[in-house]
Amino acid sequence: MKTIAVLTSGGDAPGMNAAVRAVVRTACENGIKVYGVIRGYNGLINGDFIEMDLRSVSDIINRGGTILYSARSVEFATEEGMRKAIRTCQEYGIEGVVVIGGDGSFRGARDLSERGIPCVGIPGTIDNDIACCDYTIGYDTCLNTIMEMVDRLRDTAESHDRCSVIEVMGRRAGYLALNAGIACGATSILIPEVPFDIQKHVIERMKKTQRTDKKHFIIIVAEGCDVDCEALAKEIQAKTGVESRCTVLGHVQRGGYPTVRDRVMATRMGNYAVKLLMKDTGNRVVAAQKEDVVDYDIFEALNMKKNIDLDLYNVAHEVSI
Ligand code: ATP
Repeated sequence: MKTIAVLTSGGDAPGMNAAVRAVVRTACENGIKVYGVIRGYNGLINGDFIEMDLRSVSDIINRGGTILYSARSVEFATEEGMRKAIRTCQEYGIEGVVVIGGDGSFRGARDLSERGIPCVGIPGTIDNDIACCDYTIGYDTCLNTIMEMVDRLRDTAESHDRCSVIEVMGRRAGYLALNAGIACGATSILIPEVPFDIQKHVIERMKKTQRTDKKHFIIIVAEGCDVDCEALAKEIQAKTGVESRCTVLGHVQRGGYPTVRDRVMATRMGNYAVKLLMKDTGNRVVAAQKEDVVDYDIFEALNMKKNIDLDLYNVAHEVSI
């Protein structure tokens, strides 16, 4: 393989830059020309490429976001858009593409691979919702950011005897909410994977702890629960008498310097992805299983199912009271 490309797609995640850096450096060190594709699959369609060298990725390992920018490309998901992207790859002599993104981006990578452009996916999403992976790039940084924000909210909730209802990201998955809830000592954690009843799981738990003289509360709600944070805060206040405030953390969760774990895993995965392409192996997803970096067929990976750790949920339920 003489020429490859790397792109970031879907929601940005801290650590994507570290992965781009590892891809570019591994390619350069092995005599492979590497193009950085600007704005995900849109860049692949339009030939928006930058030829990269060792120095184009200097000073980015510590930066959040993605220097290649990201996009959600409607055109790429059409047959015509896909054909254009393939034509562009052929024009530039691109023989393999590293796609850093979530499972939507992997569907695009699978389609490209099926049409003769070998692709390797690297899981880059804060949501940790990719079935074949224990961990995705950006998840650890995001979790730590949430923890810091909730700690700050706890200070003010405690000072005013309030209840802080906090909505966290994660799309349809509750990994961020569950782990942040445990790390922050939330009284209740609502996640989409476990059915809940507001009266039983929030109000009665709060009342039970009120009887032990607890006066301030943290309630974590995953965005995938489709619970209106503001309405929940009002309901809590009406039913418990505790002044309650809603905070939707929003995009602050996506930014910031990647943690050690995200930088190290992104570096390992970026290196691994290029090594796969060097063996002419495409249509693969790089995955983290425990502390190992492994790979799966994209098709197989997209059909896998991932379950939330119910033991962990039960631990949270028993301890945070
Ligand atoms: P995240 O979950 O972190 O936002 P993601 O990769 O799942 O990341 P999506 O918006 O679902 O984000 O997908 C990113 C891009 O991948 C889409 O904009 C589209 O261009 C491409 N894509 C998604 N689904 C498909 C599909 N079924 N076929 C071809 N391309 C797709």
